[in-house]
Amino acid sequence: MNAILTIALSKGRIFKETLPLLAAADIAPLDDPETSRKLILDTSQPDVKLVILRATDVPTYAQYGAADLGVAGKDVLLEHGGEGLYEPLDLKIARCRLMVAGDPNHRPRLGRPRVATKYVNTTRRWFADQGRQVEVIKLYGSMELAPLVGLADYIVDVVDTGNTLKANGLAPLEHIADISSRLIVNKAAMKMKHARIKAIMAGMAAAVGA
Ligand code: AMP
Repeated sequence: MNAILTIALSKGRIFKETLPLLAAADIAPLDDPETSRKLILDTSQPDVKLVILRATDVPTYAQYGAADLGVAGKDVLLEHGGEGLYEPLDLKIARCRLMVAGDPNHRPRLGRPRVATKYVNTTRRWFADQGRQVEVIKLYGSMELAPLVGLADYIVDVVDTGNTLKANGLAPLEHIADISSRLIVNKAAMKMKHARIKAIMAGMAAAVGA
């Protein structure tokens, strides 16, 4: 009997786009997380389970070994820091860009400009690395609203088509990073369950970009 292998995923886009990659490793969930309320899903492989988490919690579960594997956006991994994790495979899904955005016609307030974001660590690092003094304001969603109501001069957010920015009179200003989802692996699990994880990685890698 093999040890159980747990894979952490978030619902929505990442789940949908990861399914064909898992299928290439012969793993198919037996429930649909969009309709089921279950947080642990059995799969077609008796030794593989999926846990369904908030996207920002995926690296934390994998870091502490509560999940052996996970799929997380590079934006989330940059913010988390990546401790305890390997990041062996770029899955090339859920691609977008992490950007500084704002109203191109807005004149920033005197003193330190304010930047609203849910990516506070990444944002602090981005401005500090350039020696630019800013005040970072933590938000949990709807970042685009912040410049419209005077909460912040800029936002840092992921941008895909740019339509959401445009619809709110904002524009992308600075490119911080290209984002895609990555396979992450708990460092201890990579050693202890190496053969099983290697086989899954090989199946998924073959399907990336296929
Ligand atoms: P956009 O296509 O630029 O209008 O993006 C629509 C919204 O979806 C924006 O508010 C982004 O924050 C979000 N978004 C776009 N792409 C991604 C992604 N790959 N991962 C997470 N959020 C995204």
